[in-house]
Amino acid sequence: MEKILVSYQEKLSPETIRPTEAEKTAVVTIDGPAGAGKSTVSRILAERLSFDYVDTGAMYRVVALRAKDLHIEPHDDEALERLCRRLDISFHRDGGGWRVLESGEDLTAAIREPEISMLASRTAARPAVRAAMTELQRRLGQKGRAVFEGRDMGTVVFPGAAAKFFLIADIQSRSKRRFLELKDTSNNLTLDRVAADMKQRDHNDQTRPVAPLRPPEDALIVDSTNLTINQVVEKMLDFIIKKMN
Ligand code: C5P
Repeated sequence: MEKILVSYQEKLSPETIRPTEAEKTAVVTIDGPAGAGKSTVSRILAERLSFDYVDTGAMYRVVALRAKDLHIEPHDDEALERLCRRLDISFHRDGGGWRVLESGEDLTAAIREPEISMLASRTAARPAVRAAMTELQRRLGQKGRAVFEGRDMGTVVFPGAAAKFFLIADIQSRSKRRFLELKDTSNNLTLDRVAADMKQRDHNDQTRPVAPLRPPEDALIVDSTNLTINQVVEKMLDFIIKKMN
């Protein structure tokens, strides 16, 4: 496995970093609600552009999983902040996919559990967690040439990104897609439960006071409901080419 992106463990400061030149020219952001196809599309887009790919949802999921392991309550800001400072999250390219490690432990599968999805949406609303992850993401973005996928990439983390997208799809297709991904590994999962969890998470993400989920003003909004993955990627590539020229 090739180690591509490494986190930083030094003291995190909440101060705002100005967009760098590299970020302005070569960071692409893809935000949107759960299950709209962001991960698949972001990965393909990154490959087509020869960019790195950063799944920021995975970072929030790692925080949630470690908080659970350590019995930290989702509203205990001080304990969450201490936890975030200690985390050593890294992304590794593995064939066509990516693996997420924390302090050397591979958490790629564990963070996909529905319980962790729900917990991530609660801990991600805490200002201390957002400050720490935002800082980390900006550091990762400093070398540019990366596709960042998440909820607040274009609005908060990389306001100066070269191209921004907001990917949406109707709730039926989003929950069906997530159900098919999870049904073999998660016991007792039903389509209704997936749809209900997804709606709850979207609601949490849209209504939190810090970095709520919303389309960046200068984003191209793409509805993937009736499009193939390739059609979505081509639309995005056309937009990037126009924006960058
Ligand atoms: O993208 P994914 O569904 O894996 O993200 C898990 C959770 O992490 C989301 O429901 C959201 O609450 C949070 N998240 C966030 N900001 C991001 C990425 C994810 O708040 N940039």
